[in-house]
Amino acid sequence: MDFNELGLSPAVLRAVQDVGYKEPTPIQREAIPVVLTGRDVLGCAQTGTGKTASFTLPMIDMLSQGRSRARMPRSLILEPTRELATQVSDNFEKYGKHTKLSMALLIGGESMDEQMRVLNRGVDVLIATPGRLLDLYDRGKILLNDVKVLVIDEADRMLDMGFIPDVERIVGLLPPSRQTLFFSATMPPEIRRLADAFLTNPKEITVAPPASPALTVAQALAVVPDEDKREALRRLIRAENVKNALIFCNRKKDVDILHKSLSKHGFSAAALHGDMPQAKRTETLDAFRHDQVRLLVASDVAARGLDIAFLSHVFNFDVPINAEDYVHRIGRTGRAGREGRAFMLAAPEDGPAVAAIEKLIGKPIPRVEVDGMESLELDMSGRRRRRSRAQPREDERKSRGADRKPAEKRRRREPQPKEEPRIETAAPAEAPAPVQAQAPRPSRAEPQRDNRRRKDEGDDKAVVGLGDHVPAFLMRTYKVPARKAEAVEN
Ligand code: ADP
Ligand code: MG
Repeated sequence: MDFNELGLSPAVLRAVQDVGYKEPTPIQREAIPVVLTGRDVLGCAQTGTGKTASFTLPMIDMLSQGRSRARMPRSLILEPTRELATQVSDNFEKYGKHTKLSMALLIGGESMDEQMRVLNRGVDVLIATPGRLLDLYDRGKILLNDVKVLVIDEADRMLDMGFIPDVERIVGLLPPSRQTLFFSATMPPEIRRLADAFLTNPKEITVAPPASPALTVAQALAVVPDEDKREALRRLIRAENVKNALIFCNRKKDVDILHKSLSKHGFSAAALHGDMPQAKRTETLDAFRHDQVRLLVASDVAARGLDIAFLSHVFNFDVPINAEDYVHRIGRTGRAGREGRAFMLAAPEDGPAVAAIEKLIGKPIPRVEVDGMESLELDMSGRRRRRSRAQPREDERKSRGADRKPAEKRRRREPQPKEEPRIETAAPAEAPAPVQAQAPRPSRAEPQRDNRRRKDEGDDKAVVGLGDHVPAFLMRTYKVPARKAEAVEN
């Protein structure tokens, strides 16, 4: 199918052609004609499937009619992070270059004055993170009663980051007679309920089954002692032909620790997490995109939705707490039909979390050994023996003493890269049938979408899904109408 069958204007089609897209992605193919009719859309498609253009392209055409008034934006796009908001504004610039549309970006960490100046002139498109938008609204600097189109993008990330109360409040400030477009990479029940609250008779579009990694990503899993994971990672990076890689940790604190450790060992590495100032985040991402930094250590929240082309590798330094995050993480490589490689390091106690991932993706992840390192079996009992990687507890250190040297000591004796024996890492693509593939144990394996999710990116400061605030409509018992049970509505 061709872009020019979707009902877009010649000006937008020309911009699309300039960008070089050959044909619309499935979500674009289905969503664009519906958005153009003015109907609400509930779109669910994996990260990297082109959801942004599925709303920006038709919006450019819809907004080319009519005029904006001072401080009253005509459309509003909510994004969970500053990076994602910036990406969407880049999209508007690219696709809207033959159209005269004004746009403002309201994100934390940027100068408020400049953002206000643009807003005061009147904008067609306002792209904002929820917090900054409410901040300006509360100061009376912005009026939302002229918003005709609302986009809630990356809704599942909004939930993870605790933005739902803000989003609800914003939606309450908008005129009810508006078009609402709601996009998410996954559709857990909480997100489904929000969609039902925000949308009116939406066209539901679900493309690829959620949680299916691209076939071009070769996956592998190494099970090593928790305290050896940093060393295992270094060995893997050296053994693999890593052009550039994202390395995921579950906690912000570990992002910092791992980044420092990799740098100390001479790797070109940078860190990205939600606590960093905006300028630093932008600078880090630019350096990574321009190959000035080879390894980017990141948390899920910081990396979600980031569009970084041509990643050769993804390393899961931690087994993600939620199985869906595994698919999102490894989906950062193997994009657009390219080959990618995804390695995960697991400690034995990560057994249940690994089983949950394997159940979700419907197959075992091939096991590999990191040469020269102890390789263990997963423990499926679900017993945690986690401790802070930074500081092993004194009692643990002692109890390990007799048969194991503390990890730090062994590490000091680690040979320098040059003298290191050649490391043979089984290529995941050709990995033999998984050694002792653990049959997933469904009951135990299922990760619970509970408080643990809130630990997603905060060890000390838990990131809260709905926070203390539970909206009234969530407290109501909810019956799924038959129609909604279907993935795709026709
Ligand atoms: P999502 O929001 O679904 O995660 P994005 O909108 O960020 O995905 O798009 C991911 C990448 O795909 C971007 O680099 C974008 O430029 C590219 N892309 C989008 N649409 C097309 C298309 N029709 N053909 C080729 N590449 C596309
Ligand atoms: Mg997106």
